[in-house]
Amino acid sequence: MNSSVTDHRKLYRLPWTLPDNAISWLEPTAMCNLSCDGCYRSNEKNSHKSIGDIKKELDVFQRKRITDCISITGGGPLLHPENVEIVREIKSRGLKPILNTKGSALSGG
Ligand code: SF4
Repeated sequence: MNSSVTDHRKLYRLPWTLPDNAISWLEPTAMCNLSCDGCYRSNEKNSHKSIGDIKKELDVFQRKRITDCISITGGGPLLHPENVEIVREIKSRGLKPILNTKGSALSGG
């Protein structure tokens, strides 16, 4: 009989649940400079969160969840003036940042 204990955090996990989900969803801003037909997100000007508030949200993810990746989304996350710092902060916590953007250099988000 094998007496070793399996560390479930090292396994690929399905189904994902709210507290055990490989990807958590961070919205640094709800602002966007496009208006896509299928968008479900309200476009809110001046909605950039502060770095302090973003850190608090990351703290909650790490305290309440088993998570590996942070999906940075919005709105247009590249519109946030501190988007590089956000990515850096996520990486410094040992999490994998995923930037969800429409990828348009002209539109910036
Ligand atoms: S780019 Fe994304 S957030 Fe902006 S309007 Fe389109 S779907 Fe919505």
